[in-house]
Amino acid sequence: KDDGNIKVSVRVRPAAANEVKLNLPNLISMDPETNITQLNHVSSFIQSGKVSSKAGRSGNVVQPKVYKFDNSLSSFDPNNKGFIDQQTAYEKIGKEYLKHTLNGYNTCIFAYGQTGAGKSYTMMGTDEEPGLIPRICKDLFRYSENLLNERQINVIVKVSYFEIYNEFVYDLLNSTESVSGKSRYLTKSSMNSKDILQKLKVRESPETGPYVENLSEFTVKNFQEVCKYFRIGNSNRMTAATRMNLSSSRSHAIFSISVKQIEYSDILTNKILNVKHSTLRLTDLAGSERSSSTTGQLERLKEGSNINKSLTCLGRVINSLAKLNTQSQEKFEKIVVPYRDSTLTWILKDSLGGNSKTAMIACISPCDYEETLSTLRYANNAKKIKTEAKINKEDTM
Ligand code: ADP
Ligand code: MG
Repeated sequence: KDDGNIKVSVRVRPAAANEVKLNLPNLISMDPETNITQLNHVSSFIQSGKVSSKAGRSGNVVQPKVYKFDNSLSSFDPNNKGFIDQQTAYEKIGKEYLKHTLNGYNTCIFAYGQTGAGKSYTMMGTDEEPGLIPRICKDLFRYSENLLNERQINVIVKVSYFEIYNEFVYDLLNSTESVSGKSRYLTKSSMNSKDILQKLKVRESPETGPYVENLSEFTVKNFQEVCKYFRIGNSNRMTAATRMNLSSSRSHAIFSISVKQIEYSDILTNKILNVKHSTLRLTDLAGSERSSSTTGQLERLKEGSNINKSLTCLGRVINSLAKLNTQSQEKFEKIVVPYRDSTLTWILKDSLGGNSKTAMIACISPCDYEETLSTLRYANNAKKIKTEAKINKEDTM
């Protein structure tokens, strides 16, 4: 069943309070059996009489748009059959990728969609309803314990957390101000006075590809420790955005969990059988909405010509990769994938078209036709991307 394609899931969130207040119709219907997602146009509601038309529009009904995904996840109404809560979302997507990671594959899960569509809810979640990242981390340590006890495999876990804003990379775990107000995490100089986060450079290694230079990385021994760093990073992200008078929805946040598994033939004599090394990247992308609609003038001014450059480029990379995988042998055309054109695509190069098993979660709002249509189209195109994941294993015996 694993054809190497990026696995694409779509998740619709419940109507927000203001959408309920305005009595906006739910435009999305999903079939959990076939994984079909259908986007209905408001005109069909007007014609069926379910929604009154103040403008008196009738007649021209826009046909529904129908797409099939690997998962169509409806979190619209807990009373509906097939409702997807946070635990089910984890079981449908997170668990599988954690298993791939433990099997030695690099993996990546990224959340795409307009601001307010549920990306952070899906990836991070809330204290009461944790999302994929905390659930993955919790299970990772549970599995690690079993691996040590049952198979003499020692699992070493390290985490790092950075964001890309306006084409610059910032270390979310290296701030001049930590949560407690003390500067525990500043280890390097060359800080720009207005930045409270360390700005880093992307470099390329001939063996392992692009990486973030000098990114801080912390070894974590248990679930509580991961949560601590995740929380510090999130808080730094908020503080940095507030300080610069910007919304954090304009940045891409990438939380990486590096997993090293050392298998001993005899743990008492330290005889190593083999070592597996893999990285799981969990990415909360910037809001995909067109900048004119929801974001302020000020932000756009500050971002200069870099408005959503990374996101636009991600779209172009996805298009080229999709073309590459669907073009016919006869009419072969040389396609250059423009990874290098933005910081995000450069860093995610492997996750998008290389040695990685990758999942995309497209988050949608149930009431916004234009933005939802654009997200569904984007997601539909991403289905065509193939990656070539290899197990990263060194045999030492
Ligand atoms: P984004 O990160 O895409 O901007 P959020 O994750 O912050 O969007 O979601 C916006 C709001 O909708 C938040 O208040 C969040 O709690 C709520 N929300 C999003 N998805 C769900 C869901 N599946 N179930 C319940 N509430 C959700
Ligand atoms: Mg968010």
